Amino acid sequence: MSQRLVLFSRYILTMDKPQPIEDGFVLLHGSRILQVGKRKELYFLPSVRLLDLGDTILMPGFINAHCHLDFTNLKGRVRCRGGFREWLRKMAVKTRGTSPSEFRKAVQKGVQESADYGTTTLCDISTSWESYRLLRGSGLRAFVFFEMIDLGKPSPKAYFRQFQERLRVLVHEAPPTPTCRWGLSPHTPFTVSKELLELAGKYVGTHRDIPTTVHMGESREEWRYFRKGSGPMANRIRALNPDWNIPRHTTPVQYLNECGWLPKLDLGVHLNTVDRRDMALLAKNRITVVHCPGSHEYFGHPPFRYGPLRGHRVPVCLGTDSLASNKALSLFREMRIFKKNQPQVQAEEILSMVTVKPAQALGLGHQLGRIKPGYLADLIGIPLSQRKGPKAADPFDQVLRYRGKVSFAMVQGEPRLRLT
Ligand SMILES: [Zn+2]
Repeated sequence: MSQRLVLFSRYILTMDKPQPIEDGFVLLHGSRILQVGKRKELYFLPSVRLLDLGDTILMPGFINAHCHLDFTNLKGRVRCRGGFREWLRKMAVKTRGTSPSEFRKAVQKGVQESADYGTTTLCDISTSWESYRLLRGSGLRAFVFFEMIDLGKPSPKAYFRQFQERLRVLVHEAPPTPTCRWGLSPHTPFTVSKELLELAGKYVGTHRDIPTTVHMGESREEWRYFRKGSGPMANRIRALNPDWNIPRHTTPVQYLNECGWLPKLDLGVHLNTVDRRDMALLAKNRITVVHCPGSHEYFGHPPFRYGPLRGHRVPVCLGTDSLASNKALSLFREMRIFKKNQPQVQAEEILSMVTVKPAQALGLGHQLGRIKPGYLADLIGIPLSQRKGPKAADPFDQVLRYRGKVSFAMVQGEPRLRLT
């Protein structure tokens, strides 16, 4: 059977050209896109399979730049009363009380929900490490970031030795694949010791192409901790590790810079509290910021500074965070909340935050996030609105307003979902 396939669709949003293609086609060969254009421009090709998606908007699959599938079963079960620090403490207790099989169930549920809502690439922070094998066999594209936290642990050196050994065994048994890679995620600059940050930084510096991500600048409590070295967060950290190096007169971004981490960092998650110097550092080190609108709303964090970050040319993409602080693993919902808070931003720019920009941040800007010859065939189909009128006509706006599940999904040229 031929490996070539032509998909027809009423609209194609390539995310490469500003205009949607009306009545278009995409020709695929195996995992790659060969050609894209208008239906009438397609020459007859022998032994090619054809699939007409009809009244559909076909576009690149979404990239969720930040989630924690481990916590999919915690939806509505971790209140944030008592502040962000208290929420983190409750999460640590819940994590300790969860078995590997419970984590696996949560991950499977999260994979399904993500796929239902058009996500074809997941950047998952793995606390339990259970998601790596599951995502590797899931059919979705994935970056699994193994999380490090040594707050409450006596020796950063011993922690990192064990971490490396665990990693060596896992990656030997289940090596990375064309659709699944692993990366590293020091949890935050206040739950990872300076010593461990340095050890992990050295490791990343001596190994090629390890994707990295860190939560940073998320809450007011964190800001106070780095500015003043005081407050409930500092007290809690001192109680857990009396010898912990408590910083002062700095910011989360500047502290990570002092630890040598900014040049090694791909995705900086949250960055709700940033000053001008922070933004200049993020830009200089080409760090992409991941904003999680649903989780941000849940905690009531300081307003996200999209305009100033954009002014500093810091790329921003979107993530769902976990269901312990959000209601769905749907990037449609994240885009809607973003649009509500930043109404001046055009739909096309918001869509680039779940396609083009995260692909670039992951080093795949030349092959993912667009419908373009040579690019990977990670595609989704969204049913066209039946509404009449000028508003309903713009496919970019339609995607932003869409609330259902996708009707078609394909990863690496393999159809994953076809609803009729
Ligand atoms: Zn997170």
